[in-house]
Amino acid sequence: MNKNNNTSTHSGHGRVVVIGSLNMDLVVRAARMPHPGETLVGESFAQVPGGKGGNQAVAAARLGAQVSMIGRVGNDANGNQLKQGLEKEGIDCTGVSGDPHLPTGVAVITVDDASQNAIVIVAGSNGALTSEAVAEHEQTIAQAAVVVCQLESPGETVFEAMQIARRNGCVVVLNPAPVTGPLTRAWLETVDFLIPNEIEAAELSGVKVVSPETARAAAWALREQGARHVIVTLGAQGVFVLGADEGREGGRHYPARRVEAIDTTAAGDTFVGGFCAALAAGRASDDAVRFGLAAAALSVTRAGAQPSIPYLHEIESSPG
Ligand code: ATP
Repeated sequence: MNKNNNTSTHSGHGRVVVIGSLNMDLVVRAARMPHPGETLVGESFAQVPGGKGGNQAVAAARLGAQVSMIGRVGNDANGNQLKQGLEKEGIDCTGVSGDPHLPTGVAVITVDDASQNAIVIVAGSNGALTSEAVAEHEQTIAQAAVVVCQLESPGETVFEAMQIARRNGCVVVLNPAPVTGPLTRAWLETVDFLIPNEIEAAELSGVKVVSPETARAAAWALREQGARHVIVTLGAQGVFVLGADEGREGGRHYPARRVEAIDTTAAGDTFVGGFCAALAAGRASDDAVRFGLAAAALSVTRAGAQPSIPYLHEIESSPG
């Protein structure tokens, strides 16, 4: 898959490069959320690899792509564990640098008995992933068929990464999460596939998204701001896709597979990783969307973030 139609000369056919965050998720379970000032006795604690960048890299790797990760961890136990975890998945981590001063990013997550969660993220070393550090890995980026970024890294770094990807003929995917403000036309024009969830789509477009129809309106508004292909993920409703050459009334709703969802954590990351892996394998974008949907549907039937991400052979053998 190459937007310049020069796949025959694209040496990196099949590779996905993920540029983004690596966090250690510190997950506490408690009967309920603590009130301000209160000390509560919890039920359990687990330390789980996470971060949108890390999750999407793992998803793309399990779903069949060769993957390189560009990110930054601290020189600490969490950083070592995250890097080793990625390497075990077969992910090339030569682009994961160690910060001498800052700790590895963490997400402190409290989950109550009603499965509600409250999350505080501390960027740590993710905040020190500089444009220069990314530019040092231009050769790695140039080998990619698909480059995917999120917004848990500094904005100027993400923009630089996407520009490097573009001038090297890679397909650029942006999962604009979390949204920290509007995206300028220059940003949107750098992206081939913008993949927001319904909240992000609403924040970026100003159109409330609750259904495929409203997702179409939001996607069109984003197109008018400069976006090309827009894929809005809609949780249990699936995704809405408005292609770069489709009009205001165009686009297509792809329903989600009907499954018994027990935990939707990382469903979005699984969709993005699966979509990128399929695109990188040369599949057409509508086919890549269907593949992402199948992977995401499987992930919601299992608990946890990275542990819930399926492998390619499970998708091939899953019905529908
Ligand atoms: P998260 O932040 O939990 O990773 P998200 O908000 O980024 O998720 P969603 O739109 O909730 O992303 O979900 C992404 C995709 O996962 C959906 O487009 C859909 O394909 C799949 N999905 C989510 N929830 C369900 C569900 N209940 N049943 C089937 N598929 C689901």
